[in-house]
Amino acid sequence: MKTDAWLLDATDLAGLPELPELRSPLLDAKVMLVDDEPLMTELIQTHLEEAGYRRFAVCNDPTQALAVLREQDPSVLLLDLMMPAVSGFDLLARIRAEREWRALPVIVLTASANAETKLRALKLGATEFLAKPVDASELVLRLRNTLAFKQYHDRRANLDAATQLPNAAWFERRLARALPGWLARGDRVALLDIQVPECASLRATLGLAAATQLARTLAERLTQLAAAHAGIDLASDLLEAEPTLARLALDSFALLLPRLPHDDDMQQLASDMLRELARPVLLGAHECRPTPAIGVALAPDDAAGVAELMKAAELARTQARGAGGMRHEFFSRELSERARERLELGEQLRHAADRGELRLHYQPKLDVASGRIVGVEALVRWMHPQRGLVAPGLFVPLAEELGLIARIGDWVLHQACADGAAWDAAALAPVRIAVNVSQPQFDGGTLVPTLRRALAASGLAPERLVIELTESMLMRDAEQALAQMRALEALGVSLSIDDFGTGYSSFSYLKRFPLDELKIDRSFVADLPGGARDRAIVRSVIAIGHDLGLSVIAEGVETREQLAALAELGCDMYQGFHHSRPMPPQALRVLLAAQPPARTR
Ligand code: C2E
Ligand code: MG
Ligand code: MG
Repeated sequence: MKTDAWLLDATDLAGLPELPELRSPLLDAKVMLVDDEPLMTELIQTHLEEAGYRRFAVCNDPTQALAVLREQDPSVLLLDLMMPAVSGFDLLARIRAEREWRALPVIVLTASANAETKLRALKLGATEFLAKPVDASELVLRLRNTLAFKQYHDRRANLDAATQLPNAAWFERRLARALPGWLARGDRVALLDIQVPECASLRATLGLAAATQLARTLAERLTQLAAAHAGIDLASDLLEAEPTLARLALDSFALLLPRLPHDDDMQQLASDMLRELARPVLLGAHECRPTPAIGVALAPDDAAGVAELMKAAELARTQARGAGGMRHEFFSRELSERARERLELGEQLRHAADRGELRLHYQPKLDVASGRIVGVEALVRWMHPQRGLVAPGLFVPLAEELGLIARIGDWVLHQACADGAAWDAAALAPVRIAVNVSQPQFDGGTLVPTLRRALAASGLAPERLVIELTESMLMRDAEQALAQMRALEALGVSLSIDDFGTGYSSFSYLKRFPLDELKIDRSFVADLPGGARDRAIVRSVIAIGHDLGLSVIAEGVETREQLAALAELGCDMYQGFHHSRPMPPQALRVLLAAQPPARTR
């Protein structure tokens, strides 16, 4: 017998982690034999049994070979090339034509010493040759080698290269194979979809090596947690029921818990994972702070099939992400319905600007002392073909999330400037026009150029425009905000802080910002005239504004009493349903036209 030294063995595959289904030694492989000669298959089987193989599928009727193959799902096929009824070549060709059998090792048996025959079989996809009559030791060696290569190949094909965790293809197959059994036994199964966006985003910024290192670190943390939480008797006969961790995509992992822990343990596991994954990871000089989100779905509660279960976990994870990440969310039908609706709305929103479905309504801003309209606030609406007029509270956050806000904001700025220019052309009172911008617009760096274009296109003077920002936009990165505000100031537009009092503005920062106006949030106005405390709050906000040299406007003024209180406290301007609701431009024109010209001093 030849030396064994070059032979691959399962133990040579060190470094590759064990996967439950790939754990079996080579001798557990199921060997299928196709030969029209029963004597031949018997002989081969005897040789192999002597070598320790135990699992066989024998087919002496080649016309049935494909059916047997499908039913038996062997690890390797020994195929006779010369059979009277069906040619081994044809069989080989048909096997290779099937996607699922493309990687199946096929050892062909041929009595022919003809090189052409061998070449033809090779071209058709044979893995190995064995000469007939079969030499026992040669047979055993070839088979063992072929199986070892297959095992190696299987592991490679089923592992994520970076983390050495099973990949999505393997995970789905394992789940598909095991789920029906678990459910039939009455088990409940939990699937956790764990997303860490930094694994993907880092690749674009710091490169592949850093992204790989991050994924590895996170995989290690997850592995340790999963093992700690499994807490199952490892001698269990339920090897199949161990938790399984996999890497599903660049930025997502999955954890499968076949025997569902108690609900409290589930919660604990999810929050432990969030905490562990969020711990900073040092990548060279860069410190990465992962922001994981986890979705949990249960079978059979939420889904009975694999695809459905994975979809449910993903949906729950999307919800957790939508709520800001760093949290976990359980799947619920209600959530899923809402998510579907949002998805549909988002799709329609994508085209809203092109299809001319956006509208601007205007709400007057009035001078408290004179009662004159001194400005307007532009408020966007969406004229939805089926739902009618949709308020911005419903679609602006969605647009921000979907990255559509810049387009919508663009339209708003252009339309507001165009409307203002049209009022000027009609010789209406030259009021100031306030426009709201959102965080991504402010951060994105396109605000200033867009504004410049909108002003140029309409011919509106920049002094007529007020940009409304919120406190949170200014406080997130104060230095960057300051630079952006200076650029806006240089353009000649005014700046207002909207919803003032709801954020946590630092007074020292406010002093540094080139602001013109402060808008008291309507929650404070709602409390007026109210008791001494409420008045004290509003009074101090007005005092802060005036101290900073800003004009102060109150929003959400609904009653005469509120207006009287504001007048008494020295508020400069107001806006609210008490005077008028936001209205279409035509209605505003009528109001402006009816306003007598300002008295000249
Ligand atoms: P905001 O800028 O604080 O706008 C004031 C909101 O208060 C408006 O709601 C307005 O209709 C409402 N309001 C005015 N007076 C009263 C009142 O007396 N009582 C009550 N209860 N509410 C009053 P709207 O139009 O639904 O807009 C909501 C928010 O959507 C705005 O809050 C603003 O943050 C955002 N938004 C509106 N238009 C745009 C836009 O073009 N771009 C961006 N990024 N955001 C916008
Ligand atoms: Mg506003
Ligand atoms: Mg406001």
